[in-house]
Amino acid sequence: MTDWQQLESKYYMQTIVRVPLTLVRGEGARVWDDKGKEYLDFVCGLAVNCLGHCPKVVAEAVAEQARTLMQASNWYYTVPQVQLARLLVENSCLDRVFVCNSGLEANEGAVKLARRYGHLKLKGAYEVITTMDSFHGRSLAMTAASGQPKMHAPYVPLPAGFINVANNDIEAIKSATTEKTCAVMLEPVQGEGGVNLPSGDYLKEVRAWCDSQGILLILDEVQTGIGRLGTLFGYQLYGIEPDILTLAKGLGGGIPIGAVLAKEKASVFAVGDHNSTFGGNPVTSAAACATLKYVVAHDIPGNAGRVGQYLTERLNALKNKYSFITDVRGRGLLVAVEFSSDIGQSVLMACLERGLLVNKLKASAIRLIPPLIIGRKEVDEAIGILDGVFSGIVT
Ligand SMILES: *Cc1c(COP(=O)(O)O)cnc(C)c1O
Repeated sequence: MTDWQQLESKYYMQTIVRVPLTLVRGEGARVWDDKGKEYLDFVCGLAVNCLGHCPKVVAEAVAEQARTLMQASNWYYTVPQVQLARLLVENSCLDRVFVCNSGLEANEGAVKLARRYGHLKLKGAYEVITTMDSFHGRSLAMTAASGQPKMHAPYVPLPAGFINVANNDIEAIKSATTEKTCAVMLEPVQGEGGVNLPSGDYLKEVRAWCDSQGILLILDEVQTGIGRLGTLFGYQLYGIEPDILTLAKGLGGGIPIGAVLAKEKASVFAVGDHNSTFGGNPVTSAAACATLKYVVAHDIPGNAGRVGQYLTERLNALKNKYSFITDVRGRGLLVAVEFSSDIGQSVLMACLERGLLVNKLKASAIRLIPPLIIGRKEVDEAIGILDGVFSGIVT
């Protein structure tokens, strides 16, 4: 039998310490490794496979479009791209769409748009305020935007124009705002940085501040968008509307795609300002159309909200049982479990042994980001495995 992990160590750039598991197949909330062992997947491609693995509607849309028209440049009109833009506008508070290929690209587009707005409407303002522990992607500019100093260190000098301020602190945003500021960029709930929820009326206060200063609010919903928090978009949960919104992870149901959405007043790109060879490709756009239609028609966000509530309740019961669980937090199906010591990796490995995939959020926490189509049955199964794992932990 081929040792894929050994071949990877020889041929692939070593940028990540992988979980020792080679996945070959997936269906719904299950995946199988190269030895035929089955796992319940509470990672789902890192919050990507919102409809589970290989959802039929998406696989069929991809196959059909791949047989019909696979790629055409943006010098031409193509049907799936226009259909996707229309679906996104009709289901959100935004007015216009630019389709790209990933989360960081969507955020790059959003920041370029905000700078364009600054040049045109705010006397050349170009700075974007972001928060500590945020994650916006790994291009040089998005590395600078992400408030994680450990990400910055290997790549200095980074592009200028990003100010990282304390999270959940409206006064920090106010005092960082100058005549150079064109936008504030936030995740409604910080994902990679720790599943950190906004406190109190923070997001409403930021919205009001941006309005009072005439600057733009960009919401990075690459992780929270498309139902993850229990509403189609995270902004709906917190009663605010962004000027610019970015999407990616869940948007293609497992196919790589991203999008920048903007209100009409912020849609200031002129001809020649921005483009992408693959952005809005017919196949990926068809996948996103199929995903979005299914998500809306079957109220997948509603399911994520209800099942997420149940998952959180069951995790809180485990928290009462095991004193080394110090926190259970999240919304919908974006949930973190924090421990009193650095047992994240051993919990992950013990879960793997018992057939459950979880994500290590940091040394002392795991993240649960299952497909949004799961029910109580899958939650019960995962909780049973976690209970077994926790009962074996000596602290
Ligand atoms: C994952 C993520 C990104 C980066 O997306 P990529 O597709 O990996 O470039 C950006 N912002 C947030 C909030 C994310 O969770």
